[in-house]
Amino acid sequence: MPWRIGPMERAAGVRPDPYRVWLSEVMLQQTTVAAVRGYFLRFTERWPDVAALAAADDAEVMAEWAGLGYYARARNLLKCARVVVAEHGGRFPGTEAGLRALPGVGPYTAAAIAAIAYDAPAVVVDGNVERVMARLHAVEVPLPAARPELVALAARLTPALRPGDHAQAVMDLGATICTPRSPACGICPVMDDCEARALGIAAGLPRRAPKAERPVRQGIAWLARRGDGAWLLEDRPARGLLGGMPGWPGSGWEAGAPETPPLDVRWHDPGVEVRHTFTHFHLRLSLRIAEPDPGAMPARGRFIPAADFRPSALPTVMRKCWEAVLPFFGPAG
Ligand code: SF4
Repeated sequence: MPWRIGPMERAAGVRPDPYRVWLSEVMLQQTTVAAVRGYFLRFTERWPDVAALAAADDAEVMAEWAGLGYYARARNLLKCARVVVAEHGGRFPGTEAGLRALPGVGPYTAAAIAAIAYDAPAVVVDGNVERVMARLHAVEVPLPAARPELVALAARLTPALRPGDHAQAVMDLGATICTPRSPACGICPVMDDCEARALGIAAGLPRRAPKAERPVRQGIAWLARRGDGAWLLEDRPARGLLGGMPGWPGSGWEAGAPETPPLDVRWHDPGVEVRHTFTHFHLRLSLRIAEPDPGAMPARGRFIPAADFRPSALPTVMRKCWEAVLPFFGPAG
């Protein structure tokens, strides 16, 4: 993992860079290592330290983030970088409490940075650690109710010596050996101490309370392209889902939301529906398309010239809409 320090460097006294640890932890929240790697390398090449990121253009950072999802995190990333520069002289605070006070840094991320970058005896508990603790101690109470007990068990195991290496070792054990469906108990370094293995119930832990069904929400997105190839886009409201990201003008996604097109032209219904799943709901967007005249004045949003239009800067759901309607437009220009 490109944000890790290897054993040789570690032995030579090299410490992980708190900026890189922070960036990787924010990116890794609910995303896999494989998905994050490329984003991390691009970010650190373009913005090698927190001062560079703090000085970055918001839209460029959001565009690089596109595809990682959870855009509020990208906004908090920028806010946090700017607070570190403006209020902490460009150095991340060295304590869990100091880190917790930064925008977008929750208890897990603060503990991870404190442990990994500063070798503080912080208790780092992510999904991997929860699973390892539940199995080591055969905790059968389902999640999320079991969480406090699992945190307490992780705290009991956190050593005073090299707590950062310990935290990463337990996370790695969960990610590579004590995996969700088929734990490789036969090669596990802690197999002799594992209660779930002894009881033969490892693969069934941790138990989970059944999840509530995600509701389905619906809306309309209007996609207009002028003859010169310019697309009509608007920035979404700063607060809320996909806040501040560019998107197609649309209706709200709540029942009864107004359905007012952004442009007074003839809209066509190509009969296309785009489906996308967010954390808390499924979205079904019905699309409308139009090819307005060059002088058309939108009531919302603005036309982005073809040369400046970057589909990769759109959030995934908006890119899906664009891909779905492209076959209905003739060649531009
Ligand atoms: Fe996980 Fe098996 Fe190791 Fe127990 S012995 S910690 S269940 S891999």
